[in-house]
Amino acid sequence: MTREALTLVSPMPLRAEPAPELAAEIEEQAIRLDQADPEAILGWASERFGSGLTMATAFGVEGCLILHFLSRVAPKTRVFNLDTGYQFAETLDVRNRIREKYGIDVELVQPSTTVAEYETEHGGPLHRHRPDQCCYDRKVVPLRRAVAGYTAWISGIRAEETDQRSRGRIIQWDAKFGLTKINPLLNWNRKRVWSAVISWNVPYNSLHDRGYESIGCEPCTVPGAGREGRWGGMAKKECGLHVQEHEQGSGI
Ligand code: SF4
Repeated sequence: MTREALTLVSPMPLRAEPAPELAAEIEEQAIRLDQADPEAILGWASERFGSGLTMATAFGVEGCLILHFLSRVAPKTRVFNLDTGYQFAETLDVRNRIREKYGIDVELVQPSTTVAEYETEHGGPLHRHRPDQCCYDRKVVPLRRAVAGYTAWISGIRAEETDQRSRGRIIQWDAKFGLTKINPLLNWNRKRVWSAVISWNVPYNSLHDRGYESIGCEPCTVPGAGREGRWGGMAKKECGLHVQEHEQGSGI
Protein backbone atom coordinates (compact mmCIF):
# COMPACT_ATOMS: atom_id res chain seq x y z
CA MET A 1 0.00 0.00 0.00
CA THR A 2 1.35 3.46 -0.87
CA ARG A 3 1.87 6.16 1.71
CA GLU A 4 -0.95 8.13 0.12
CA ALA A 5 -3.35 5.21 0.42
CA LEU A 6 -2.35 4.76 4.02
CA THR A 7 -2.97 8.38 4.95
CA LEU A 8 -6.40 8.45 3.30
CA VAL A 9 -7.80 6.01 5.86
CA SER A 10 -10.75 7.54 7.74
CA PRO A 11 -9.79 8.81 11.24
CA MET A 12 -13.11 7.74 12.79
CA PRO A 13 -15.66 5.00 12.22
CA LEU A 14 -18.52 6.18 10.02
CA ARG A 15 -22.11 5.09 9.80
CA ALA A 16 -22.48 4.19 6.14
CA GLU A 17 -26.26 3.92 6.29
CA PRO A 18 -28.83 5.70 8.47
CA ALA A 19 -31.11 3.73 10.79
CA PRO A 20 -34.24 2.60 8.90
CA GLU A 21 -36.52 5.10 10.70
CA LEU A 22 -34.17 7.96 9.89
CA ALA A 23 -33.85 6.84 6.27
CA ALA A 24 -37.65 6.90 5.97
CA GLU A 25 -37.84 10.33 7.58
CA ILE A 26 -35.16 11.72 5.25
CA GLU A 27 -37.03 10.39 2.25
CA GLU A 28 -40.32 11.85 3.45
CA GLN A 29 -38.82 15.28 4.21
CA ALA A 30 -36.80 15.36 0.97
CA ILE A 31 -40.07 15.05 -0.93
CA ARG A 32 -42.03 17.41 1.31
CA LEU A 33 -39.38 20.15 1.26
CA ASP A 34 -38.27 19.77 -2.36
CA GLN A 35 -39.87 23.05 -3.44
CA ALA A 36 -39.81 24.78 -0.04
CA ASP A 37 -38.02 28.07 0.51
CA PRO A 38 -34.67 28.00 2.35
CA GLU A 39 -36.07 29.47 5.55
CA ALA A 40 -38.66 26.70 5.77
CA ILE A 41 -35.98 24.07 5.15
CA LEU A 42 -33.63 25.56 7.73
CA GLY A 43 -36.49 26.04 10.19
CA TRP A 44 -37.41 22.37 9.90
CA ALA A 45 -33.77 21.31 10.28
CA SER A 46 -33.27 23.47 13.36
CA GLU A 47 -36.42 22.14 15.00
CA ARG A 48 -35.65 18.55 14.09
CA PHE A 49 -31.95 18.43 15.00
CA GLY A 50 -31.64 21.25 17.57
CA SER A 51 -28.09 21.58 18.90
CA GLY A 52 -27.10 18.60 16.72
CA LEU A 53 -27.29 20.86 13.66
CA THR A 54 -24.17 22.58 12.35
CA MET A 55 -23.01 24.33 9.18
CA ALA A 56 -19.70 24.50 7.31
CA THR A 57 -19.09 27.55 5.14
CA ALA A 58 -16.24 28.67 2.89
CA PHE A 59 -17.98 32.07 2.65
CA GLY A 60 -19.03 31.44 -0.91
CA VAL A 61 -21.99 33.48 -2.05
CA GLU A 62 -24.36 30.59 -1.32
CA GLY A 63 -23.00 30.17 2.21
CA CYS A 64 -23.37 33.90 2.88
CA LEU A 65 -26.99 33.77 1.70
CA ILE A 66 -27.70 30.77 3.92
CA LEU A 67 -26.25 32.70 6.88
CA HIS A 68 -28.72 35.47 6.07
CA PHE A 69 -31.60 32.99 6.22
CA LEU A 70 -30.16 31.26 9.28
CA SER A 71 -29.96 34.58 11.15
CA ARG A 72 -33.74 34.81 10.77
CA VAL A 73 -34.77 31.30 11.77
CA ALA A 74 -31.95 29.71 13.78
CA PRO A 75 -29.22 32.27 14.63
CA LYS A 76 -27.73 30.14 17.41
CA THR A 77 -26.73 27.36 14.99
CA ARG A 78 -23.04 26.57 15.27
CA VAL A 79 -21.29 27.58 12.02
CA PHE A 80 -17.67 26.90 11.17
CA ASN A 81 -15.13 27.56 8.43
CA LEU A 82 -12.42 25.11 7.41
CA ASP A 83 -9.45 27.42 7.78
CA THR A 84 -6.85 25.54 5.76
CA GLY A 85 -4.23 28.25 6.18
CA TYR A 86 -4.34 28.84 2.43
CA GLN A 87 -7.50 30.98 2.27
CA PHE A 88 -7.59 34.46 0.73
CA ALA A 89 -7.53 37.44 3.13
CA GLU A 90 -10.70 38.59 1.34
CA THR A 91 -12.42 35.36 2.38
CA LEU A 92 -11.57 35.83 6.04
CA ASP A 93 -12.77 39.43 5.81
CA VAL A 94 -16.26 38.16 4.97
CA ARG A 95 -16.30 36.45 8.38
CA ASN A 96 -15.92 39.86 10.07
CA ARG A 97 -18.67 41.43 7.98
CA ILE A 98 -21.04 38.51 8.68
CA ARG A 99 -20.44 38.95 12.40
CA GLU A 100 -21.09 42.68 12.18
CA LYS A 101 -24.30 42.30 10.18
CA TYR A 102 -25.85 39.18 11.70
CA GLY A 103 -24.05 38.64 15.01
CA ILE A 104 -23.06 35.16 13.83
CA ASP A 105 -19.54 34.30 14.99
CA VAL A 106 -18.22 31.74 12.52
CA GLU A 107 -15.76 29.40 14.24
CA LEU A 108 -12.43 28.75 12.48
CA VAL A 109 -11.59 25.03 12.36
CA GLN A 110 -7.92 24.43 11.61
CA PRO A 111 -5.84 21.40 10.68
CA SER A 112 -3.46 19.96 13.26
CA THR A 113 -0.45 21.56 11.53
CA THR A 114 0.27 25.09 10.36
CA VAL A 115 1.03 25.64 6.69
CA ALA A 116 4.73 25.99 7.53
CA GLU A 117 4.76 22.71 9.48
CA TYR A 118 2.81 20.92 6.76
CA GLU A 119 5.06 22.09 3.96
CA THR A 120 8.18 21.22 5.94
CA GLU A 121 6.79 17.75 6.62
CA HIS A 122 6.13 17.16 2.91
CA GLY A 123 9.12 18.96 1.45
CA GLY A 124 7.00 21.73 -0.04
CA PRO A 125 3.36 22.53 -0.82
CA LEU A 126 1.30 19.45 -1.69
CA HIS A 127 -1.38 21.48 -3.46
CA ARG A 128 0.87 21.67 -6.54
CA HIS A 129 1.18 17.96 -7.26
CA ARG A 130 -1.08 16.10 -4.78
CA PRO A 131 -4.09 18.37 -4.24
CA ASP A 132 -6.36 15.46 -3.24
CA GLN A 133 -4.05 14.66 -0.35
CA CYS A 134 -3.80 18.33 0.62
CA CYS A 135 -7.61 18.73 0.59
CA TYR A 136 -7.97 15.55 2.58
CA ASP A 137 -5.48 16.60 5.25
CA ARG A 138 -6.55 20.23 5.52
CA LYS A 139 -10.30 20.00 4.83
CA VAL A 140 -11.75 16.51 5.12
CA VAL A 141 -9.98 15.42 8.32
CA PRO A 142 -10.68 18.72 10.15
CA LEU A 143 -14.30 18.55 8.96
CA ARG A 144 -14.70 15.07 10.40
CA ARG A 145 -13.40 16.30 13.72
CA ALA A 146 -15.60 19.38 13.57
CA VAL A 147 -18.81 17.43 13.03
CA ALA A 148 -18.11 14.70 15.60
CA GLY A 149 -21.10 14.54 17.94
CA TYR A 150 -23.38 16.40 15.51
CA THR A 151 -26.24 14.73 13.68
CA ALA A 152 -26.87 17.04 10.72
CA TRP A 153 -25.03 19.65 8.69
CA ILE A 154 -26.04 22.40 6.28
CA SER A 155 -24.24 22.93 2.99
CA GLY A 156 -24.51 25.52 0.22
CA ILE A 157 -24.22 23.17 -2.75
CA ARG A 158 -26.38 23.80 -5.83
CA ALA A 159 -27.43 21.14 -8.31
CA GLU A 160 -26.24 23.04 -11.38
CA GLU A 161 -22.65 23.34 -10.14
CA THR A 162 -21.31 19.86 -10.95
CA ASP A 163 -22.56 16.44 -12.01
CA GLN A 164 -21.93 15.17 -8.49
CA ARG A 165 -24.03 17.95 -6.97
CA SER A 166 -26.85 17.45 -9.47
CA ARG A 167 -27.48 14.10 -7.79
CA GLY A 168 -28.08 15.74 -4.39
CA ARG A 169 -31.43 16.18 -2.63
CA ILE A 170 -32.72 18.90 -0.32
CA ILE A 171 -32.45 16.48 2.62
CA GLN A 172 -30.20 13.46 2.23
CA TRP A 173 -28.01 11.05 4.11
CA ASP A 174 -24.32 11.88 3.90
CA ALA A 175 -22.54 8.55 4.15
CA LYS A 176 -19.16 10.20 3.97
CA PHE A 177 -19.63 11.89 7.34
CA GLY A 178 -22.47 9.85 8.86
CA LEU A 179 -24.80 12.87 9.04
CA THR A 180 -28.08 14.07 7.63
CA LYS A 181 -27.21 16.76 5.09
CA ILE A 182 -29.40 19.81 4.47
CA ASN A 183 -29.01 21.57 1.09
CA PRO A 184 -31.42 24.54 1.22
CA LEU A 185 -30.19 26.15 -2.03
CA LEU A 186 -29.90 22.94 -4.05
CA ASN A 187 -32.56 23.99 -6.56
CA TRP A 188 -31.53 27.64 -6.87
CA ASN A 189 -29.62 28.88 -9.91
CA ARG A 190 -26.78 31.35 -9.71
CA LYS A 191 -28.86 34.29 -10.95
CA ARG A 192 -31.45 33.77 -8.23
CA VAL A 193 -28.77 33.56 -5.54
CA TRP A 194 -27.12 36.79 -6.65
CA SER A 195 -30.44 38.57 -6.98
CA ALA A 196 -31.26 37.70 -3.35
CA VAL A 197 -27.79 38.68 -2.12
CA ILE A 198 -27.99 42.10 -3.78
CA SER A 199 -31.60 42.70 -2.70
CA TRP A 200 -30.85 41.99 0.95
CA ASN A 201 -27.38 43.49 0.99
CA VAL A 202 -25.83 40.23 2.18
CA PRO A 203 -22.04 40.52 2.75
CA TYR A 204 -20.06 38.60 0.13
CA ASN A 205 -16.47 38.01 -0.92
CA SER A 206 -15.09 41.01 -2.86
CA LEU A 207 -13.20 38.57 -5.12
CA HIS A 208 -16.51 37.84 -6.84
CA ASP A 209 -16.35 41.39 -8.23
CA ARG A 210 -12.91 40.58 -9.70
CA GLY A 211 -13.98 37.62 -11.83
CA TYR A 212 -13.82 34.76 -9.31
CA GLU A 213 -17.11 32.83 -9.33
CA SER A 214 -16.12 29.96 -7.03
CA ILE A 215 -13.53 30.69 -4.37
CA GLY A 216 -11.43 28.13 -2.55
CA CYS A 217 -7.87 28.34 -1.29
CA GLU A 218 -5.64 31.01 -2.83
CA PRO A 219 -3.08 28.68 -4.49
CA CYS A 220 -5.84 26.63 -6.15
CA THR A 221 -8.20 29.36 -7.35
CA VAL A 222 -8.00 31.61 -10.38
CA PRO A 223 -10.67 33.88 -11.87
CA GLY A 224 -13.21 31.94 -13.91
CA ALA A 225 -16.84 30.99 -14.44
CA GLY A 226 -18.55 28.40 -12.26
CA ARG A 227 -16.06 26.03 -10.69
CA GLU A 228 -13.71 26.34 -13.69
CA GLY A 229 -11.45 28.59 -11.64
CA ARG A 230 -10.91 25.86 -9.05
CA TRP A 231 -7.74 23.78 -9.47
CA GLY A 232 -7.19 25.46 -12.85
CA GLY A 233 -5.58 23.12 -15.38
CA MET A 234 -6.58 19.99 -13.45
CA ALA A 235 -9.57 17.65 -13.77
CA LYS A 236 -10.21 18.08 -10.04
CA LYS A 237 -13.33 20.14 -9.30
CA GLU A 238 -14.23 18.98 -5.77
CA CYS A 239 -12.27 19.11 -2.52
CA GLY A 240 -13.82 15.82 -1.39
CA LEU A 241 -16.39 17.27 1.04
CA HIS A 242 -19.34 16.84 -1.30
CA VAL A 243 -18.32 13.85 -3.40
CA GLN A 244 -20.70 10.91 -3.53
CA GLU A 245 -18.92 7.76 -2.47
CA HIS A 246 -21.83 5.36 -2.04
CA GLU A 247 -24.41 4.04 -4.44
CA GLN A 248 -28.15 4.55 -3.81
CA GLY A 249 -27.65 8.30 -3.42
CA SER A 250 -26.75 7.95 0.23
CA GLY A 251 -24.04 10.56 0.12
CA ILE A 252 -22.77 13.36 -2.02
S1 SF4 B 1 -7.90 23.77 -2.14
FE1 SF4 B 1 -5.68 23.61 -2.57
S2 SF4 B 1 -4.58 24.55 -0.82
FE2 SF4 B 1 -6.74 24.19 -0.22
S3 SF4 B 1 -6.70 22.27 0.84
FE3 SF4 B 1 -7.21 21.81 -1.31
S4 SF4 B 1 -5.27 21.45 -2.39
FE4 SF4 B 1 -4.81 22.38 -0.37
